[in-house]
Amino acid sequence: GDRREQYPHSLQFYLEPPTESISLVEFESFAIDRLKLLKVVENLGVSYVRNTDAYQTKLEQELRKLKFPYRALAEDDYEARRKDHISHFILRLAYCQSEDLRRWFLQQEMDLFRYRFSQLTDVLMQKFLEHVNLSFEVVSEDLKNELSNDLYVSTPGFIQSKVTEQMFYKVGLADAVDLFRARRVFIKDGFAYVPFKEIDVIVLNSYRTKLSKALALTARSLPSIQSDERLQPLLNHLSHSYVGPDYSIQKNTGKISLEQIDALSVKSFPLCMRQLHRALRESHHLRHGGRMQYGLFLKGIGLTLEQALEFWKKEFIRGKVDADKFDKGYAYSIRHSYGKEGKRTDYTPYSCMKIIMSNPPGQGDYHGCPFRHSDPELLKQKLHSYKIPPSGITQILELVKGMHFQLACQKYFELTHDVDDIGFSLNHPNQYFTESQRLLSGGRELKKELNNSGNFQQKNNSQESMNSNSTPTSSNATADTELEGLEAYFTED
Ligand code: SF4
Repeated sequence: GDRREQYPHSLQFYLEPPTESISLVEFESFAIDRLKLLKVVENLGVSYVRNTDAYQTKLEQELRKLKFPYRALAEDDYEARRKDHISHFILRLAYCQSEDLRRWFLQQEMDLFRYRFSQLTDVLMQKFLEHVNLSFEVVSEDLKNELSNDLYVSTPGFIQSKVTEQMFYKVGLADAVDLFRARRVFIKDGFAYVPFKEIDVIVLNSYRTKLSKALALTARSLPSIQSDERLQPLLNHLSHSYVGPDYSIQKNTGKISLEQIDALSVKSFPLCMRQLHRALRESHHLRHGGRMQYGLFLKGIGLTLEQALEFWKKEFIRGKVDADKFDKGYAYSIRHSYGKEGKRTDYTPYSCMKIIMSNPPGQGDYHGCPFRHSDPELLKQKLHSYKIPPSGITQILELVKGMHFQLACQKYFELTHDVDDIGFSLNHPNQYFTESQRLLSGGRELKKELNNSGNFQQKNNSQESMNSNSTPTSSNATADTELEGLEAYFTED
């Protein structure tokens, strides 16, 4: 009945924003699930050739697991379609906020769409084309026969006899630019004659154009999103999100001695933290951004407040800061980050997304993500000095070029730990550390088990982490309130 009409297809262009009210709880869980899905899409896109069997199988598994529509033929998957629809729009809000975020989102959504479109049967494809107003004129049999030689010559991959069996569409040039450029279609009187099997290029193009326009539009409504005190923390959290444990609860507090840090920084720190540690040891100082990023990381790996005070003090007084100044100034902010001063907020170590996306380092800063923020030439030198083999460096730089910073970091992990497959999806410097320690202490079996239970466990934690963050957040008490008028954010101006 009604519900069916709302989503006549398993696939959509997401042209209409959702109009129903949804609870904040559902809002968040939908968003997190889609984020997980897009992360899988990103990972697969780098590790597998798109549209190979392995790629498709893995993606289908993930769609099923997260309860998104996974097979176009499934008739009664209203809930999955609804989730697909709403979650797409929520992430649009979170990922319209900067050029980097938009690009990432667009890329993953395109890949996801490409896969899902490829799963449609011919009949469903046809239906879908009509649905999204891309129902191009079918070239009549007569005309096709008349043009058969031209079609055969201009369309690679056909033998002449097949030309007449294939359905061709007359497509306006604007829609067929890619095929035209690649000299893959026959052109006549301002129309491209596109064979059915190439129609996906056209559809994808159309989708890309629509989605990037929509993202730009949504970005313009940013001020209204930012002034929404229920939404803003949620969305910020999402765009910086990494959907695993937040490492604010230290199980290993006090298990590390200060003497171990130098050695650990070489063996088990990700590049960002290794760089900060080295800079600290060399210049006996770090600026605020570095102190925050590194300090919270150290807290996450188990340094107690007392240890942290000792660690920073020892280093700083070797530089330009005297003990008195340290006690009066820096010590306060360290206690603060442990939640012992001020608002007593227990700060959470930064995730990769946060490090990559916010507060880029300036001159004299050592924070940030070296894969994102270092000049490629410097990065190359650094990796070289850390004894990464040239072939590995090339691989890393390729990933960096494609803006896959976390995957580049995973590669670095693999190379420095001498494993072929990292076996987890890296999202957090403290996760890097934990996994490294586990591996080095020979806990491979344990690692497997933990991975099976999912990288993405502890969803509820993200709720907690939001509340324990420095940003004002919606408390649990308001989490059940209905969120109305989502569509208001998507309408023009
Ligand atoms: Fe650090 Fe994450 Fe960048 Fe790796 S990807 S260097 S862990 S911020």
